[in-house]
Amino acid sequence: MELAIKSLSKTYPNGVQALKNVSLSISTGMFGLLGPNGAGKSTLMRTIATLQEADEGTIQLNGIDVLKEKHKVRELLGYLPQEFGIYPEVTAEHMLDHIAVLKGIHNKKERKTLINDLLHQTNLWDLRRTRLGEFSGGTKQRFGIAQALLGNPKLVIVDEPTAGLDPQERNRFHNILSEIGEHVVVILSTHIVDDVSELCTNMAIIHEGELLLTAEPLKAMNELKGKIWSKVISKKEFPECGKKFEIVMTRLFAGKIVIHVLSDNRPDDTFKMIDPELEDVYFTTINKNSAPVTA
Ligand code: ADP
Repeated sequence: MELAIKSLSKTYPNGVQALKNVSLSISTGMFGLLGPNGAGKSTLMRTIATLQEADEGTIQLNGIDVLKEKHKVRELLGYLPQEFGIYPEVTAEHMLDHIAVLKGIHNKKERKTLINDLLHQTNLWDLRRTRLGEFSGGTKQRFGIAQALLGNPKLVIVDEPTAGLDPQERNRFHNILSEIGEHVVVILSTHIVDDVSELCTNMAIIHEGELLLTAEPLKAMNELKGKIWSKVISKKEFPECGKKFEIVMTRLFAGKIVIHVLSDNRPDDTFKMIDPELEDVYFTTINKNSAPVTA
């Protein structure tokens, strides 16, 4: 499976240019599309999912023209949107059965087997007779992935799936995604860097509608080796440090601030060299393309 996006652009009627000449190639495996809120991720996801038109550009999925042959794409697609409505009175099992019929699986026995497998795979077996209105955020997301996987999709798109999940729910969701990613193209769109570092073999960073980087996370981190320096400072020291050093990112730890600085040499002997994290890659890339970090 190969998804080839070429020179895709989209401007909304209000003048916001959500995608600027985006070109991207994605093959089987877990692909992370990373970017801050408003970067254009959902616009790109909805366009690939045939729910929205682009102004310019092409998308090919194994020879299918995605922007024109929408029905063909929908047969191969599983989509978990950022927000999806549920029928609160319907049980998980009934809803999946209903969606399976809509997806063209008419044999009742076949549907039952498929749905039972999915309920186990997404850890929802015990909740199969629970009404969807009683589902928590995490179980609702797992139901979302179960419905997306109905009909054996070859391309699975999940848009911001872990925002709002607690760590345990997020972990479960990650396990399910990484299983799927072995066989099909999975695009995971997120602003959470850890989602990508935990799951994805390839990634892209998008910011203000522009594709800034496509890379293998491990390689991208390796390229920063020897250039990321860390130090714990107090909040008071922050403004001064912001002026003196190129701060890539900051993190609070025990009431203090841990700063990561990008520099070819040790900024001074109070800094220690650290192994670059994916967040360093992310913020280095984003910072290069926006206003510098200030105090
Ligand atoms: P992300 O998913 O990365 O948060 P979006 O694709 O939702 O980004 O949004 C990209 C930009 O396009 C944002 O500035 C957003 O406000 C704008 N936008 C998104 N959808 C619409 C719309 N239907 N009409 C106008 N502007 C939109």
